[in-house]
Amino acid sequence: MDADDMGSDLAEVLVTAEQIAARLREMAAEVDRDYAGRDLLLVGVLKGAVMVMADFARELHGSAPMDWMAVSSYGSGTKSSGVVRILKDLEADVTGRDVLIVEDIIDSGLTLSWLVANLRSRGAASVEVLTLLRKPTAAKVDVDVRYVGFDIPNAFVVGYGLDFGERYRNLPFVGTLSPHVYAS
Ligand code: 5GP
Repeated sequence: MDADDMGSDLAEVLVTAEQIAARLREMAAEVDRDYAGRDLLLVGVLKGAVMVMADFARELHGSAPMDWMAVSSYGSGTKSSGVVRILKDLEADVTGRDVLIVEDIIDSGLTLSWLVANLRSRGAASVEVLTLLRKPTAAKVDVDVRYVGFDIPNAFVVGYGLDFGERYRNLPFVGTLSPHVYAS
């Protein structure tokens, strides 16, 4: 799916496929350097982080095992509450391992802050976070995000793993939707 397929549903492209690819390559080089000689485990958060994980992991020179979690945040409406339920847990034992959480976007950061605390409590040697996108609202949260791809404005975005009602995840770029999409 690309911009042509979206027609008038697409408002604006915020981050192009080329920008994403180049930034993930830079971030992978940093992670390769920082984790040289360590027992790195990549933990992806389903479903949004699938694209980031696939492309980021392939840019790494070190062999990094990956595992997945699915969580749902209890909340009223669209607001995340920070109360989290595990829908799918990790298969790997994180005890003594250097965990890098791979995320698509950090908005309120409440889910992420719960996840970091949860993985630390399981005895991981370290827990760091990599995210492709970060919104200004994330600044309010007490999570130290070590690797950030792009700081974006406070708008609802889709593409590259991010959906609106399960649609648009397979766009190769990150963009915003036209108002009529929300009205229909
Ligand atoms: P947080 O706990 O940081 O508020 O929630 C993060 C989750 O909310 C993300 O993993 C993502 O699934 C969803 N989310 C936050 N902002 C956006 C956005 O702009 N677009 C989409 N499609 N999902 C978002």
